[in-house]
Amino acid sequence: MRTSAIDIEKKMNPLLESERKKNSFDVEEMTNVLDGGKIATERRRFIEKLAFTDVELWGPDVRHMTREELFLEMTRRHVEAIKKCKKYNLTDAVDVTNFQRSVLNTYVTGLSLHQLVFVPMLKLQSSEEQLRDWLPLVDSFKMIGCYAQTELGHGTYIRGIETSATYDPQTEEFILNSPSISSIKWWIGGLGKTANYALILAQLYTDDVNRGVHAFLVQIRDHNHMPMQGITLGDIGPKLGLNSVDNGFLKLSHVRIPRNNMLMRYSKVLKDGTFVAPSNTRLLYGGMLQARIDLSDDAIYVICLSITVVIRYSCVRLQCSMQNDQAECQIVSYQTQQNKLFPILSSAYAYRLAFPAINQWLTSATNMVDQGDVSDLGEAHALSSAMKVLLTTKSANFVETCRLSCGGHGYLDGSSLPVFYRNIVATVTAEGEVSVLLLQTARFLVKTFVKLQQSSNMQLSPFTSYLLNQSRARNEPKKLSSFNLESLVDAYQYRSYRLLSAVCERMNTLNAKERANKFYVWNACSVDLVHSSLAHIECVIATVLVQQLSGNSNNNVMTSSSPSPSCLSCSSDVRRVLTNLCRLYLLNGLFESSADLLQFSYLDPDQVTSMKLEMYNLYDVIRPDVVSLVDAMDFDDRHLKSVLGTYCGHVYEELYQWAQKSKLNETQVHPSFHKYVKPTRELFVSKM
Ligand SMILES: Cc1cc2nc3c(=O)[nH]c(=O)nc-3n(C[C@H](O)[C@H](O)[C@H](O)COP(=O)(O)OP(=O)(O)OC[C@H]3O[C@@H](n4cnc5c(N)ncnc54)[C@H](O)[C@@H]3O)c2cc1C
Repeated sequence: MRTSAIDIEKKMNPLLESERKKNSFDVEEMTNVLDGGKIATERRRFIEKLAFTDVELWGPDVRHMTREELFLEMTRRHVEAIKKCKKYNLTDAVDVTNFQRSVLNTYVTGLSLHQLVFVPMLKLQSSEEQLRDWLPLVDSFKMIGCYAQTELGHGTYIRGIETSATYDPQTEEFILNSPSISSIKWWIGGLGKTANYALILAQLYTDDVNRGVHAFLVQIRDHNHMPMQGITLGDIGPKLGLNSVDNGFLKLSHVRIPRNNMLMRYSKVLKDGTFVAPSNTRLLYGGMLQARIDLSDDAIYVICLSITVVIRYSCVRLQCSMQNDQAECQIVSYQTQQNKLFPILSSAYAYRLAFPAINQWLTSATNMVDQGDVSDLGEAHALSSAMKVLLTTKSANFVETCRLSCGGHGYLDGSSLPVFYRNIVATVTAEGEVSVLLLQTARFLVKTFVKLQQSSNMQLSPFTSYLLNQSRARNEPKKLSSFNLESLVDAYQYRSYRLLSAVCERMNTLNAKERANKFYVWNACSVDLVHSSLAHIECVIATVLVQQLSGNSNNNVMTSSSPSPSCLSCSSDVRRVLTNLCRLYLLNGLFESSADLLQFSYLDPDQVTSMKLEMYNLYDVIRPDVVSLVDAMDFDDRHLKSVLGTYCGHVYEELYQWAQKSKLNETQVHPSFHKYVKPTRELFVSKM
């Protein structure tokens, strides 16, 4: 049992107690399934215990702090967490994530950008000799870096970056310069106060020729942490969220760096200024893959935290009664509340089950890039981009729905839901904006579709092979036949194929027109292209999810067997509950996109109604298990930090205690009274 850290009456709220008695499956087994096995659960708990029992990692509640205090405290905790990871020899990425989440919750700091973006980029793009020089500096904390791509005037369009790096063969140095106000680096996480190095993306010039955008390692602060000569930098100011991060600005005035500070794994500039181009320019873009995988994982984590809070609260909050003169009822009993929350609960489970398999494939593609093999890079980029968009936008929307579903108390920072929202919504834009990333996915899909039309025997990945199957069966009339898992997945695959085929057809028609301009055509189809990319990633998740649940690798809904993620092994009770959640997830997704399926006559209007009624049925089936389903996510109260979502569920006591900690309550009469209210009152009295 994961108990409250706050020393309130430890007895469980009877409403939650009775909810926990209703469950129809073994909670511990479900936790093991979510973690990927019993050993993984034990390991995670061991790591969390290390973090929770270490007093040096404890600290005051940062929600009562000013931005400066928050920044200081979270930096302190993050530094401590890094030191402890070293002390406990935690090197595995999952261990480090579990440890840091237990210390930082959903907050990130300038050091997070160092770990999540700077170091992976440095490793990916530096030569072995460069890494031999630089990694010891990273390991000893002497090099703390940030990733400086975005400029005031240039975000999405990387080729438009203005910062220049001009090679001077006389001194064998690059001269970095910000030629205009729009070229000032902006938004760079960790740059404002934390980092002493920056990976700066700049236009490379050799022999007066522009060689495109390349990465340069620049020391921006000296050993006293003062700006280096020619460098002006600082923090860009308070933001909607993520105020524990020092997003910064940077202006370079003819800053000289040694030739060796250009990252030279792929492109090179020789001493005499000769430019050696990379064998494949796509190699330069591999670095963002891991960052997008990490952001997707964070998005799922925040969905799980939020749904835990709101489900527990919905079971202890009594409001109104269904019939006159009856006792007030739990708000979870209202169908409207279930309609808001149960699809989110089912999504949390769907993402938790499908993500590891997708992640496994993406990680192997990233490792291949590391070895210079870019054959899967195009698809990995397309898949990770769409996945990052889907999961971060869903996460932000779901957290907001969870907050609204808690009524007024959800608006309080003490519920944690506003904090989760503020911290996750930033990731919708950071590391690539929604439409822009989806259009990049669309480019890959359109290319694949065109190739498919040219050859029906082409080799496709496990995630796109459905396009081939649907294409082969394109002349057969199709209709949703039942609501079982296989039929529902077929509906996702059919929808995605038809949307892609429709937009490709429209592009062909527009391209065939006289004097057609391909850029105009692309823009004229971009809304449909974005829609098609989203349908693709939804289809991938649905396909992988059902494959996981099929429990039988022979019944693999992916036609390609390699790489084949392992299927779940679990008891029939757990499988039944997961199957119901999975059906709800799939039905809800299809219901939301029923306009597409009606348009393609795959559904008729009566089926849409049946689909809705089937979802209501599933709400009733899932209802007795909901508290146990969030318990199975196995959060400690110290992860949730929510007055509404503790394991014991004493929300009113927690709320009352939270209010006592308000800084405004430190004095009985606030100085504002003496300074403003009282003199004004006296002024009015004297005039009467
Ligand atoms: C919290 C946070 C942290 C960040 N951290 C970093 C960091 O550490 N390092 C770094 O380098 N950057 C960082 N950024 C910057 C981030 O990567 C950019 O904000 C992002 O890439 C979008 O670029 P932009 O803001 O210039 O938007 P723009 O490119 O100006 O886009 C604005 C809008 O125009 C539309 N649009 C733009 N281009 C197209 C197109 N081709 N097709 C269709 N629509 C389009 C989209 O609707 C988009 O939302 C961070 C941003 C945030 C919010």
